[in-house]
Amino acid sequence: MAGALSGVDEVARNSNTKALSKINQLRKELIVLKRNIAPVRELVEKITPTPISRLHARNLRYRDFLTVALMVKKPDLFPDNWIYIHEPDVQVGRIQNYRSWSPWMVPDPTTACVGLEYFCFRGDDLWSMDDDALVALASEELAAIGLATPDKVKRGYVVRVPMAYPIYDRDYAERVATIRSWLDGFGTNLVQIGRNGLHRYNNSDHSMLTAMRAVDNLLGGPVHDIWAVNAESAYHEEDVEPEQPYRNVPEPPAMAEPLAGESA
Ligand SMILES: Cc1cc2nc3c(=O)[nH]c(=O)nc-3n(C[C@H](O)[C@H](O)[C@H](O)COP(=O)(O)OP(=O)(O)OC[C@H]3O[C@@H](n4cnc5c(N)ncnc54)[C@H](O)[C@@H]3O)c2cc1C
Repeated sequence: MAGALSGVDEVARNSNTKALSKINQLRKELIVLKRNIAPVRELVEKITPTPISRLHARNLRYRDFLTVALMVKKPDLFPDNWIYIHEPDVQVGRIQNYRSWSPWMVPDPTTACVGLEYFCFRGDDLWSMDDDALVALASEELAAIGLATPDKVKRGYVVRVPMAYPIYDRDYAERVATIRSWLDGFGTNLVQIGRNGLHRYNNSDHSMLTAMRAVDNLLGGPVHDIWAVNAESAYHEEDVEPEQPYRNVPEPPAMAEPLAGESA
């Protein structure tokens, strides 16, 4: 999907599609729609004139993530799709077993492929470690938890995923509400969808539902409130306050990075 997106261009506050024919209007709106899967934090930054909600968007926070995929000369290391790791002496938080997702992902039965997942903040020590060092760390940690010794690791690859998790910190709900009420002024010319498009801790099904509901709205079908999809999870977070680890979020290095359009 990313290949089809050319990035969020400048979004003009007063774009007007009213004069277009219905078909052209729909086409234009769908193009705009495709682009608005970008994180709220980035989108608001691109809007001119500068919206009052810019500061709110700028303070939205994200947990980042990286995964180290290791090819291991062994049959499957465990039968599950993934396991969470609670061992305090290692940094890995979860391990994916890709063949359990689909045998076609790892067709060689003599080789296992597992993804060691590290939850981190962009710019922190883990994120900044070079790829070879991360592969070495993951191999050591695989041994530390007794799944395979480093000599069995054939090779590894690192994938970094910025903004993997929208953070629900103390003020996020108020910030999102302010941004939303400002974005509502665009009407159907600008539709927010997806996980980071709504700053909502969505699964794939929720994310797809936001897109389906947006298309319904554009086609003049039943009018949905897209921001209501999976809204209950936000309320749920408030109900389980003691388990909320990010009520006071640390100041990760990424927050100091310049945003798009700013000079370093
Ligand atoms: C580690 C992890 C594990 C998960 N496991 C599950 C699971 O087991 N089951 C499940 O249902 N869900 C899972 N999820 C959630 C699921 O991945 C998301 O809900 C879903 O991918 C969100 O879909 P989306 O289309 O909103 O965003 P994405 O899939 O993130 O797609 C957004 C796309 O937009 C691109 N983009 C962003 N900004 C711009 C821009 N400015 N210009 C152009 N392109 C841009 C991005 O590169 C990306 O390709 C998981 C998420 C993570 C991070």
